[in-house]
Amino acid sequence: MEENKRRKLHSNIESVRTGFANGQAEGAPFTEKEKTKIIKEAAKHYGKFLDALKCDWRDDPNSMETPTRVAKAYVYDLWKGRYDGLSDVTSFPSDGYRGIVLEKDIPVVSQCSHHHQTVLGKAHIAYIPGAEGRVIGLSKINRIVEHFSRRGAIQESLTMAIHKALNKVLKETEGVMVVIQATHNCVSCRGVKHMGASMITSEVSGAFANHNKTAKQEVMHMIGYGLDAYK
Ligand SMILES: [Zn+2]
Repeated sequence: MEENKRRKLHSNIESVRTGFANGQAEGAPFTEKEKTKIIKEAAKHYGKFLDALKCDWRDDPNSMETPTRVAKAYVYDLWKGRYDGLSDVTSFPSDGYRGIVLEKDIPVVSQCSHHHQTVLGKAHIAYIPGAEGRVIGLSKINRIVEHFSRRGAIQESLTMAIHKALNKVLKETEGVMVVIQATHNCVSCRGVKHMGASMITSEVSGAFANHNKTAKQEVMHMIGYGLDAYK
């Protein structure tokens, strides 16, 4: 039966306005030629930014290529999710598996959209396929996390964007739970300068949002946070 075969999911999983730091750039996905053009333009303006900071970058051997380096880092790494598309996500029948699927300790490398400082942490993602539900390849969860993390973002909206995307691709799921724990350089290195403080956010739906919270507590145990650490 067609229903039970592997299924490609082409749903639009973007949930943020195009152009925003945590959305895709207008015109994305871009070709290499288009990216080169963006890098050239961004480098020109980053040079001006350094001029305004009274940095003689043009004559400094360590800084003369910095505007281009910074622009390339944004397009190819730091904000990659704004310029690239996400490859197709394929789902498979769950074959009656009714338990929780949890992938924990997925690296999160992001950037806060307020200060453009690095956000580093881990995402833990759980879902319940349900008897009639679908499962997706494990690495696809990593790719979805990467796709949304590699932008300017705030942790709360990043958590929601990943949750919404998974809810869309796992259509018949009985629930999705996304937990992110991350440290923010804008807290560690500027302003209050508190090293080591981390932030935990979570978004839940379906069985994870039920009043008795059994499924949610089970996941928190599996992650290792314990029952009382996070409610
Ligand atoms: Zn910040």
